[in-house]
Amino acid sequence: MLFKDLALVFQALESTSSRIEMTEILAELFRKADKNEAGMIAYLLQGVVAPPFKGLDIGVGEKFVQQAISKATGYPVKKIEKMYLETGDLGLVAEKLVAEKKQRSLFSRSLSVSDVFTAFKKIAEASGEKSQALKIRHLTELLNNSSPVEARYVVRIPLGKLRLGVGDPTILDALAAVFAGHRRNREILERAYNLTSDIGFVTSVLYEKGLDALKQVRITPGTPLRPALCERLSSAEEIIEKLGECAAEAKYDGVRIQCHMKDGKVWLFSRRQENMTHMFPDIVEAVKKIPAESIVFDSEALSYNEETGEFYPFQKTVQRKRKYGVTEYAEEFPLRLFAFDIMHYNGKDLIDEPYKKRRKILEKAVDSYSEKIKVSEMKVVKTPEELQQVFDDYVSRGLEGVVAKDLDAPYTVGARKFAWVKLKRSYKGELSDTIDVVVLGYFKGKGHRARFKFGTILAGVYDPSTDSFKTIAKVGSGFTEDQMKEFGELLESIRVDRKPARVDSLLEPDAWVEPKYVVTLVADEITESPLHTCGWDPKKKRGYALRFPRIISGIRDKKPEDATTVDEIKQLFKMQKRVKGD
Ligand code: ATP
Repeated sequence: MLFKDLALVFQALESTSSRIEMTEILAELFRKADKNEAGMIAYLLQGVVAPPFKGLDIGVGEKFVQQAISKATGYPVKKIEKMYLETGDLGLVAEKLVAEKKQRSLFSRSLSVSDVFTAFKKIAEASGEKSQALKIRHLTELLNNSSPVEARYVVRIPLGKLRLGVGDPTILDALAAVFAGHRRNREILERAYNLTSDIGFVTSVLYEKGLDALKQVRITPGTPLRPALCERLSSAEEIIEKLGECAAEAKYDGVRIQCHMKDGKVWLFSRRQENMTHMFPDIVEAVKKIPAESIVFDSEALSYNEETGEFYPFQKTVQRKRKYGVTEYAEEFPLRLFAFDIMHYNGKDLIDEPYKKRRKILEKAVDSYSEKIKVSEMKVVKTPEELQQVFDDYVSRGLEGVVAKDLDAPYTVGARKFAWVKLKRSYKGELSDTIDVVVLGYFKGKGHRARFKFGTILAGVYDPSTDSFKTIAKVGSGFTEDQMKEFGELLESIRVDRKPARVDSLLEPDAWVEPKYVVTLVADEITESPLHTCGWDPKKKRGYALRFPRIISGIRDKKPEDATTVDEIKQLFKMQKRVKGD
């Protein structure tokens, strides 16, 4: 396929604000895609050449992009800088200058999708002293052969500003529309995606080898799975009613780490499948001590004080993730890993085995090889009273609550199901759970907040049924001054001109931003409101809002699609009514 055709699709995607239209445009694109290029298209639609866990970043700095535009078009960098100041978009600058240049010279060859993909891959792989010069050369060559509209995207991709609002779920929807006439086929696509977290890989296998080959996809140590997630219920009674006899595990408030090892090589992945191996050298060493040929297990890592045996909360643990000074920090705040599930062991996938069998294997596989790795505390309970007792015991020891687990359930990869149900401690007058929201825009600060870039944020939750974000609150409380500064700059860097296609909002903030960052809130309660689109009821003309929301975290390690969902809010609203006895 010619890159020009893909650029025209980018342009069409940019100018639609309808989700349905977006999926139709993508399905049409995938119908026309060549076998060997479909996977590349799946990546390029998101401005990448590999999934996040590969750490292959196309990023090229603005200054270097300006040099490439200058070399390709013959216009001086000064002029490019000036035009950039006026438009705020180097993609548009490149488009305009390439158009002007084209009137003078008609010499160029047509770029194919694979030409562009290969060039960006080389850019991402370039390292070492001469890498900048190499990147500029590849980019210049691409621009030399670009038509104006192609130039717009060739420039936006390495700047990380493609922002078409296409995420993995939308691509899965489009592929399903092309290939999966049958529901079961869609499940095959989803399963392969959940096991590999790699939409480009899934697309390539589908196009090159077919659906049957996708069915054969297995867990590969070194490739992260999409994690199983918890549902929530409001009391021990409800949990026992739903699960019957179940395993009550301690709920640790740390950082989730998916540990992989094969033949002595270790990989650690975050909740959103990013490679964090280099950040936790002490954990890597501990995992290496496990006597297995290959293993993949799920765990929660917590900082702790060796002298007092006290666990530090989430925020302290997160600080460990800073890239620099990792070793010093490891000494000051050593981590302990609580393993709570096992997905693969010695060449065998275990996700379809029942919990009780996996738990036995986990205990044998990881316990007692290192001081740093323990299996999560667990007790099998039969009655609500027993469950409540275990819960109270955990909470009194400073833990976050329990995760109750269905003894017969498989590992529900990539899904939030009732295989795991969380019950968290909560405080009087607060919602029984925290809410993870996506920042959708911001309002300028007034009074003492006028010196910051923003005063309040417009927060939204995720609606998987439409793959869009619905607003739920305006939040101004809970930010520290440092956070306001840091956050203001981050938000400004992802500011967009108009409401993104995947955002559904009745409010118009002073600035919209690309839905990218997730933060955690607590609130007093959920109320009905005519201002917000979360759970919108067209008859009542009301959605749901949060009362007294306040932020309690920095940027979370979550993708926007991992934020709390509209259905979860509805469920929390019902739970709250039940608790209040309304
Ligand atoms: P989620 O990860 O479900 O989207 P979240 O990040 O807001 O939500 P919670 O909903 O509070 O976290 O709880 C789920 C998280 O609890 C898991 O992702 C995991 O990191 C953590 N966790 C701690 N202990 C356990 C355990 N024993 N079993 C499963 N998960 C646990």
